[in-house]
Amino acid sequence: MTALETFESLGLSETTLEAIRAKGFEIPSPIQRLTIPVLLANQNDIIGQAQTGTGKTAAFGLPILEQALPASGKVQALILVPTRELALQVTDELLSLRTGKITVSAIYGGASYDEQLRRLKKGIDIVVGTPGRILDHLHRGTLDLSALKWLVLDEADEMLNMGFIDDVDEILSYTPEERRLLLFSATMPRRISDLAQKYMRDVQVLKVEATHLTTDLTDQIYFEVRESDKFDALTRIIDVEPEFYAIVFCRTKVAVDELVNRLLERGYLADGLHGDVSQAQREKILRKFKRRFSNILVATDVAARGIDVNNLTHVINYSLPQDSESYVHRIGRTGRAGNQGTAITFISHSEYRQFLAMRKEVKADIRKEEIPTVHDVIALKKQHILSELEETIETQMFDEYAGMAETILASHTPETALAALLKMSFKNDLDASSYPEIRTFSVDRKGTARIFIAVGRRDGFTPRRIVEMLQRESGLPDAHINDVKIMDEFSFVTIPFEEAEHVTRCLNKGSKHPIAEIARNEKSVRRAAPRRKDGRKGKTSRSKDRAGRRVPRKAADTEFRRKRR
Ligand code: AMP
Repeated sequence: MTALETFESLGLSETTLEAIRAKGFEIPSPIQRLTIPVLLANQNDIIGQAQTGTGKTAAFGLPILEQALPASGKVQALILVPTRELALQVTDELLSLRTGKITVSAIYGGASYDEQLRRLKKGIDIVVGTPGRILDHLHRGTLDLSALKWLVLDEADEMLNMGFIDDVDEILSYTPEERRLLLFSATMPRRISDLAQKYMRDVQVLKVEATHLTTDLTDQIYFEVRESDKFDALTRIIDVEPEFYAIVFCRTKVAVDELVNRLLERGYLADGLHGDVSQAQREKILRKFKRRFSNILVATDVAARGIDVNNLTHVINYSLPQDSESYVHRIGRTGRAGNQGTAITFISHSEYRQFLAMRKEVKADIRKEEIPTVHDVIALKKQHILSELEETIETQMFDEYAGMAETILASHTPETALAALLKMSFKNDLDASSYPEIRTFSVDRKGTARIFIAVGRRDGFTPRRIVEMLQRESGLPDAHINDVKIMDEFSFVTIPFEEAEHVTRCLNKGSKHPIAEIARNEKSVRRAAPRRKDGRKGKTSRSKDRAGRRVPRKAADTEFRRKRR
């Protein structure tokens, strides 16, 4: 690692470096390397050209967190983002990196004004917000930007796509002259560069140069899986693959350690490599891996550099790499020397947008596949047991057990004795109920998701009322809600994928039993749907209740609230 590649070389304080270490980042991403020194050293406005997922938040966040005054009572930094989901993500990331008592809070549409007013009154140092709601607060006089030092426009091109750019323009007119303007965008459409020209002074353009990328020799697939289910998805893949000799990539040291521990607990032969592993230990681990005493090497991108291992069967992107270049580096470790390898990428909700951008940039054919089912895993385990048994029988080297076998067979049938022995050896391996359910989510090519909502016609809902409820509960605009399908007991709607988590969270807020979820497979849900209690399948009229009365709008809403409780 050269000095230029470390966080220490960027001019950050020791306290901030501590926070970065605790977070587990090893080296700065390219956009961080470019942005942090500029933001710490001078007063330029900046345009950062970087994709989502490249570490942009820490790139602008670390210098702001370091230079902001804790609990000043006035908003010092405003970060404008296109979606609520992103507002929450950015807020979480900043909170996880802050050291002192800086307050960071998300202000976005669809959430309660009262709660936001309370937080604003108390004083927020860094506000992360969506343009519409921020503008509302400015119009109402409930947000004061007079002491603003930094204004960040994050994903400016997305804000343009979503029709927010006029709001952004107006928000800018509320900010003081001497604030710094930081604009991040993956692309630079005309409207954005015009905006930059209108409001920016002494602009420094920071751009991560893309290099030529090829990914030829590798079969590339991806799985859509929730973050919390990634571990079980990984173990299923290991279990069903006839041969698994792989590097599993994580983004942070903390994630590497955690994954290795979980794999070891489950009996897999895994080792971890990251920046805190000593040179001697690293060599030992690599020797072991090369001799195949372990078959899973979990590593950060930095630690995997320079590892010279051939014939990997798989490379697993347990979390997405920071950019398409790292993706190509990672997967280039399989498929070497003419061998066809498989690169598997796990994608959770929050990684989806970055994945789409990366896939476009790499121009590779990355196919979607389904996680192996429990049934597949068990069938394969049975096969393994049988072939191992055959091999052992062929060796004829089990004389020491012969006497014991006779004793057992004297008092039990061979079926009972064998079944009991298998149970002792393989415990619950063949029991489907011992495998946790893996929930996937479905995103189609258009980037939309299907949402299941547990209210239907019999609760007095019509398509119009479902749309109204969604708007009221989550702030989703009409135009984003499509293909509403109402059944007796439940409904489906299609909404933009990136809104899906936010919408389900809003609908389920404060409920013991979730009422909405991202649908896995509409057909299977419809098949498994509960029948009417009277056993008939018959339709109920659209806006009538069970007794045949017309249900007023309010009653339908009450029914929704009742179910949600
Ligand atoms: P962002 O582009 O800011 O949304 O970041 C995407 C993800 O990368 C987040 O989960 C960050 O915590 C993570 N990340 C940011 N910088 C680094 C880094 N230098 N090393 C490893 N992970 C990082």
